[in-house]
Amino acid sequence: MEKTSPKKWVIGNWKLNPYFQDAQALFQSITQHIEGQSLDCQVAIAPPTAYLAFFSAQNLPLPIVAQDISIVNGTGAYTGEISADLLKHANVNYTLIGHSERRELFGDHVERLQQKIKNAIGSGLHIIYCVGESLEQREAGHAKDIVIQQLQELKAVLSEDDWQNVIIAYEPIWAIGTGKTALPQDAQDMHATIRSYLQDHTTWANRISLLYGGSVKPENAVELAACTDIDGALVGGASLDASSFISIIQAFAQK
Ligand code: PEP
Repeated sequence: MEKTSPKKWVIGNWKLNPYFQDAQALFQSITQHIEGQSLDCQVAIAPPTAYLAFFSAQNLPLPIVAQDISIVNGTGAYTGEISADLLKHANVNYTLIGHSERRELFGDHVERLQQKIKNAIGSGLHIIYCVGESLEQREAGHAKDIVIQQLQELKAVLSEDDWQNVIIAYEPIWAIGTGKTALPQDAQDMHATIRSYLQDHTTWANRISLLYGGSVKPENAVELAACTDIDGALVGGASLDASSFISIIQAFAQK
């Protein structure tokens, strides 16, 4: 296989924010900035589920990412669920899977996550698979073991070809929404561990984008972007402010 660099990505995870009018204004500010520019970085937005079809119908050069999908697929009597298949038909081609808020608050244990991965890949979606350790796990010296375990859980349900449709986001739980960022050296160290795991398990390893997430902001984006194995960012809080998000995009585009 030909060896090429992973694509750079900056993805805004809006979580359950903001209200619709503000979401439209934010989306417009971001798209105005990127339209017509040949940025060396793919920008994407993960808006709340309620807005997915609206934004994906705008036909703009910016992928729309679902924040989660159901454990069931296709269509059927599953009130309230959003399947991978339905998203694909609504022009949504990407989904997050395994965000720590889904793991911690909404019961996404390993079997559920593996079912979601299978549904997403089976329906032709690309996945952004989130991994990361808690503060207790880091302080006990288990951070790498935890992340490797999460990668093994992913690998268990993928074929070799499926890796082409995978992006990994390393998001230490203690850094999400807390204002605490991993030191660039610590983030790079974990990303190198993830890359090495991938190199041992798939021929696609050197093309898989590894994103860092956890309080990324304009003040730390340049330093994080400078790290060899950090190919982009998954941005929560700072993606809700157009100028902050645009600064982060620029930091990675100039990497
Ligand atoms: C996230 O939710 O994926 C995230 C990284 O959030 P924040 O940037 O706010 O820490």
